[in-house]
Parts: sequence; structure tokens; C-alpha cells
Amino acid sequence: MEVPDFRHRTASSRAVRNGHLLRMRRHHRRSPRLPKLSSARAKWNGCLHLMTDPEILVVGAGPAGMAASIRARESGRSVLVIDDNPNTGGQIWRGGQHAHRGRQPARWFERFRRSGVPVLTGAQVLSAVASTKTLLVETWDRSLEFRYKKLIIAAGAREIFLPFPGWTLPGIVGVGGLQALVKSGLPVAGKSIVIAGSGPLLLAVAASLRNSGAHVRLIAEQARRRSVVRLALGLLRHPGKVMQAIGLQYSLLGIPYRYGCWVEAAEGGERLERVHLRQGNRRWKQPCDYAAIAYGLYPNVELPSLLNCRIQNDVVVVDDFGKTSLDDIYCVGECTGIGGLDLSLVKGEIAGYAAAEDQGRARRLFAARKKAGHFAHRLNQAFALRQELKTLPKDETFVCRCEDVTYGRLKNVSSFRAAKLHTRCGMGPCQGRLCGPATQFLFGWRAESIRPPIFPARVGSLVIDEAVPEESAPIPQ
Ligand SMILES: Cc1cc2nc3c(=O)[nH]c(=O)nc-3n(C[C@H](O)[C@H](O)[C@H](O)COP(=O)(O)OP(=O)(O)OC[C@H]3O[C@@H](n4cnc5c(N)ncnc54)[C@H](O)[C@@H]3O)c2cc1C
Repeated sequence: MEVPDFRHRTASSRAVRNGHLLRMRRHHRRSPRLPKLSSARAKWNGCLHLMTDPEILVVGAGPAGMAASIRARESGRSVLVIDDNPNTGGQIWRGGQHAHRGRQPARWFERFRRSGVPVLTGAQVLSAVASTKTLLVETWDRSLEFRYKKLIIAAGAREIFLPFPGWTLPGIVGVGGLQALVKSGLPVAGKSIVIAGSGPLLLAVAASLRNSGAHVRLIAEQARRRSVVRLALGLLRHPGKVMQAIGLQYSLLGIPYRYGCWVEAAEGGERLERVHLRQGNRRWKQPCDYAAIAYGLYPNVELPSLLNCRIQNDVVVVDDFGKTSLDDIYCVGECTGIGGLDLSLVKGEIAGYAAAEDQGRARRLFAARKKAGHFAHRLNQAFALRQELKTLPKDETFVCRCEDVTYGRLKNVSSFRAAKLHTRCGMGPCQGRLCGPATQFLFGWRAESIRPPIFPARVGSLVIDEAVPEESAPIPQ
């Protein structure tokens, strides 16, 4: 393992991988204090106009963050949005305006454009300090410090992966993950794909993969038929959703949709060749090139948690206006509870108005939020995970794939903290983002604390700037 040498600037700007930072010798560890930007660095930053500290800083340019910033700007506040993707739009509108057809994304992208809110894309928030109201942000080539008066966190959610024998084979990806790869150019035309896991995302992604020329062999939904049928009947109260469902059904004609069905194992040599499926007592093998598997979404609460916002049942606790337990910090979208696009948008709008102290307009949206929330609740009930999925991993199945920790090494451990200490589970590059939700489902563990940086970072982004003489940090032209 190579540990970067901090004395040399070149080494310090290398990406930290495989938990290097956390394995550094004690005297190499740095305090999590935020670095100060030298004036020289600030000047060569091409986004200098963005760096004047905004009144409202929004983290996340997905639907919730876009809606929040539009409304806050509309109420006369200066707003800056930061997002680690190269484009605005978050997960569902990945790739930005031109990658999406349909009236809803067009309307929101246009509103966002007209609002004139500046966006710093390709920038990841690594750390935050509530007492000084500062965020540490890393872009591809530098680190920046931002101050805010009010902060709106719209960090979204990630997919939940549950371990089963063979799940780490190349060719097995998340459901939204495969869609994102395809949107980024992965060719799937003519490829044979199995989609499995749980939730409506399976259907949306199957439709878009088919549009890209893939052969979707099967959609395996773990939920029981009666839960899904009950949900479908409840759709009648939401005419917009009925139309969406009809449209989806039409585009999925001919693709088998199996309830109470899941992938038990995957096989292959260098990469995936087939999956083993189970539905009730029936078991069979399905050859495929890709298996897209995810068991719903898990809120990204690392940043609010680092700031000490109250978290309960894995979501950030907020009041009616989206305000967290801390004054001046709001949270919106999926990190306050998985609820889908419409709920994310309306929560964003409410918090945007509220952060701009326009509570009147925020209140007018409460009814819309209630309606969207009602649907989200039914959705979460219908796709609750079944207990049988806990029996999928064998002793030799990896649970933490970053640190190669198997189920057998974890099954007698008492907590996530103990697992970290004894096995390094959750201490690799993903910092428990994948195995955290999996071990929570399998063993009932919860991550107890979070430390900065919340993402793997370049050492140069964490080193206190004064430690580096100005002349040794050449200014790129
Ligand atoms: C992989 C994936 C694919 C999905 N695909 C679909 C789909 O096809 N159809 C559908 O209906 N729903 C989809 N969803 C669900 C959809 O994302 C939500 O319903 C909703 O749109 C979420 O909006 P949001 O603004 O809360 O979060 P998101 O859209 O997730 O936006 C959050 C944004 O915050 C950014 N961010 C997070 N943390 C940081 C940080 N520390 N620093 C900087 N930026 C940060 C993220 O990069 C992201 O751009 C998908 C979800 C996932 C996880």
C-alpha cells in the first residue's frame, strides 16, 4: 500500500483510494479543520464570482435542490448551488436538460435557467462545520471553502444492494446505476438483461433499457402480488400516476414481470453469465449479460449527520418548512424520506421559500406536499423488503466489497462499530455507503457516527493551506 508523502505537493494532490487516509500513521493525520483559501488560489479560480458567500447555499442540484433554489431566488435571496455531477438534474434528470424529453423536466430546467442561480458542478462537499457555517468543497483540481447564512441540503438517496452469492461479479450493477451508465454511453443494444430487486424504479429503468435496444428478459419484483395490486388500486386517486402507469405498461409489453421473485445467486467466469432466480418454490437459471439489481433507495444523510442535524429512522428530521433541528439548516428531497420525484420537488419549493423567509408562499404548498406524501407512504408499504432476503448470503459471500469482509466474519458481531473495529467492514472507499444499509437490513445495525471527509478526498484538499508555501503551489494557467 502506498501512503502519499505530504511534504511534496504533487503527492498530496493524488486521489486517496482504498481508505489510505484512514490508515495513515497517527502523526500524518490532520485535524478536520477546514483549510483557508489563499488569496492567490481564490484569484485563479475561474468561478470567482461564485465564491462570494451566498445567503443561501444549496447542496444538490437534483429536482429538490433545483426547486429550492428557484423559489429562494424568486424571493429575492442570493443563492448558490453545488453538485458533484457534471450537470444539474440529479439522479432522475441525469445529464441535464437536453438528455430528457417530457414536459415536467423541460419546465423545471427552464425555470432554473431563468432564475439565473449559479451552479458549481463537479464539486463535492467533503465536510462542514455548523458553528462557523462553512463547507469544504473539492472540485477536480482544487478545494474551496464556502460560507452560508442558510444551508439547504438536497443530497438525494442511493440504491440499496443486498449481498447474495456472486453479487460482486462484473455485469451486476444497480438498477439506477445501469441506467446512469447507459445515459453516459454504455452500449446495451442486443444485450440480455435481468432487472431485479424492488420498487417502481425497476419498471422505469426496464422501459428505458428497452428503448436503448436491450433485451430485458425479466423483471423480478420481490414484493408480493397483493401488495403491488393494492398499490395499483390506490393509484386511482392520482390520475397523473395512472397515466404514467399505463404508459409504462405499454412500453413494457412482452416483458415478464414476476412478483415475489428474486435473484438467489449469480454465476460466471470473468463476468456474469447467468442468475439463479426463485419465485415461491420454483427455481430456475436465466442467462444474461447484465443483471441490474437494487432493493429500493436509502437516504444520503451523511452531510446532515456530520452537521449534527437530528436523524431518526435513517432520515433527517425536519419541521413543516423543511428546517432541521439546527437553525438555518434545511433538508429536502430524498434525504428527508424516500418519496419520489413529485414529493422531492414540492419539499424543495417549500424549503426554498421558507429559507428565504417567505413562509406565506411555503404554506400554500402544504396541501400538494400532503398529497405527494400520501402516495409515497403507500409506495414504501407496498415494496417493504421480505425477510427471506436475509437468508441469501452464505458464509463466504462478501458483504463489504471494499474491504472483502464476508458474511461469515460478520454474523456473530454485535454492531456496526464492532464490525469496523474487528473486520474493517465499512471502512473502504465507500465508507459504508453500500454495506451500511445491507448490514442494517441483515443484522439490524446502524452507523453510529460519521467523520469528515464524507467522501474519499485528495489529501491536498484536507491539508491546511498555510502548511504549503505559496511558491510550491503553482498557479495553473
Ligand atoms: C441511481 C438512481 C437512479 C434513479 N432513477 C430514477 C428514475 O429513472 N426515475 C424516477 O422516477 N426516479 C429515479 N430515482 C429516484 C429519484 O432520484 C428521486 O425520486 C428524486 O428525483 C430525488 O430528487 P432529489 O433532488 O431528492 O435527489 P437527487 O436527484 O438524488 O439529487 C441529489 C443531488 O445531490 C448531489 N449530492 C449529494 N451529496 C452531495 C455532496 N456531498 N456534494 C455535492 N453534491 C452532492 C448528488 O450528486 C445529486 O445530484 C433514482 C434514484 C437513484 C439513486
